Amino acid sequence: MDKVTIQRIQLLHPKLRSEVDKIYNEICVVLTGRAMCRFSQTLRTYEEQNTLYAQGRTTKGKIVTNAKGGSSYHQFGLAIDVVLIIDGKTASWDTKTDFDKDGKSDWMEIVSIFKKHGWEWGGDFKSIKDYPHFQKTFGFNIKQLQDLHNKQNKLYLDL
Ligand SMILES: [Zn+2]
Repeated sequence: MDKVTIQRIQLLHPKLRSEVDKIYNEICVVLTGRAMCRFSQTLRTYEEQNTLYAQGRTTKGKIVTNAKGGSSYHQFGLAIDVVLIIDGKTASWDTKTDFDKDGKSDWMEIVSIFKKHGWEWGGDFKSIKDYPHFQKTFGFNIKQLQDLHNKQNKLYLDL
């Protein structure tokens, strides 16, 4: 169990929190080796995304993203990025290694659990693959969520 991850689950859309608590518990049970799972990102607000977008354009630093606020499911608390932490200290995005030697890569064990709960995996995206990314959209596309956001003007949309 990872304190940072528990806190980040509480930033997700309220409709997802208890389900994701369960998902995270299941992940912790199946990863029995040197790797543990951390959620590196859940909610990223419009403001945070716009601040990132401004970097290298209207503020100092290098350009890090081409996405403005509202272009990702993270802005609505409907997405999670995961990372493995090896031996309690080293971040890893290795999707292949079977750290706990049970015949399945640890990364794919995480993928299976999210999918079982009806989440989409970025590794299945047709265009650019996003292996650390999971999302649950409730059937809304980004455009629809942006419209709802403009109408409702709140952090967590009534879905
Ligand atoms: Zn993501």
